[in-house]
Amino acid sequence: MRIKFLGGAGEVGRAAVLVKTATGSVLFDYGVSFDPQGKPIFPEHVRPKDLIAVVLSHAHLDHSGALPSLYVSVKPPIYATPLTMELSDVMYTDMIKLSGYYLPYTHEEVKATMESAIPLTYGEPVELAPDITLTVYNAGHVPGSAISVLEAEGRVVVFTGDFNLRDTALLRGADVYNLPRKPDVVIMEATYVAADHPPREVLEREFIGTVKEVIESGGTVLIPSFALGRAQEIMLVLAKYGVEPVYVDGLARQVNIIVGKYPYLLNDYDLYKKAINAAVEIPNAYVRKRAVGQEPSVIVSPAGMLKGGASLYYFKRLAGDPKNAIILPSFQAPDTPGFEVLAKGEALVDGTTVKVRARVEWFDFSAHSGRSELEKFIEYFDEDARIILFHTDPSSALPFVKSMQARGRDNIYVPLTTGEELELP
Ligand SMILES: [Zn+2]
Ligand SMILES: [Zn+2]
Repeated sequence: MRIKFLGGAGEVGRAAVLVKTATGSVLFDYGVSFDPQGKPIFPEHVRPKDLIAVVLSHAHLDHSGALPSLYVSVKPPIYATPLTMELSDVMYTDMIKLSGYYLPYTHEEVKATMESAIPLTYGEPVELAPDITLTVYNAGHVPGSAISVLEAEGRVVVFTGDFNLRDTALLRGADVYNLPRKPDVVIMEATYVAADHPPREVLEREFIGTVKEVIESGGTVLIPSFALGRAQEIMLVLAKYGVEPVYVDGLARQVNIIVGKYPYLLNDYDLYKKAINAAVEIPNAYVRKRAVGQEPSVIVSPAGMLKGGASLYYFKRLAGDPKNAIILPSFQAPDTPGFEVLAKGEALVDGTTVKVRARVEWFDFSAHSGRSELEKFIEYFDEDARIILFHTDPSSALPFVKSMQARGRDNIYVPLTTGEELELP
């Protein structure tokens, strides 16, 4: 068996890992990254006819965004949870709308991708080929996300996709205790290997405290959020503490509806219903114009890094008034307006510099495991298991490997180059 990193080696994003067996190859994820101009960067190419199966961990574009490019002629089956496929469909449609010009696929390939889906249920093994079995478990990252266990050629490979060990308002933490203790290889994401996230209760209280302060003094709070995962988490936390009124805009509205069809996957469906029912949807530009600034309120809207979408419109309307606040609840990549707002208090939008006089705050509502969870996850597995860290920045991952060595874990490896291949002894 060989493992090849088509993307995500020594970088966060464009996750794509190929597991090669004598029967054929299994592709785990096929995502994209984006360059500063918003152009998608693809993983290394793979021939669809070499694939016996594709396994998709979740619907974020850094794991799924390149997948339709494989669905032109030969169409390998895609194994994913039904929720992941439904969400991917919406994400692809949105991506074609925003960056269609740069994409090597159209709605036609997306349709072929959807038609190749085979639904997975957590905990139920599926045979991909004679002697190749796949079982997935809740990854706790976004609704529908899955950690895979692949059994082939007498070996066991765990592929985490993105995962979160901690409970959030939206999801229960990853279902680690059903994973095998003695796999041969664990390919795990290590995005937040550098530090721990703050305790959730403290984070929620500080966040709600800030939101209430702004509303009570007559301001409006804009919370730019990713459509899948972060928008729902923020809406649930606001509902948990009774904050009103909350407006929701953009792609988050569609995601809310799709996720609501899978109540058993959610941590607290009653809270979910309460949050979605309480939120006021902004259906179009006309209502959007009238909604802002009428009364103190909270607006939850993509894009999460202010790189476009409705959040950019609200940002332009709200940024100039110190009564208002821009609360960023997620990581902001360099070269995004969100990053500039945090770093310099201004952002270049449509060629003009917007000075931010509104209050600016950042909260770490990450849906990834932090450093101690990653340590705990590694220590769950037998010492002989080979651990591979991908979807991570080497400047944080390599020192982490050293510190784990000091704790007696000398079997951790970080692939650094795209196309790198490992042979299992
Ligand atoms: Zn993700
Ligand atoms: Zn990811």
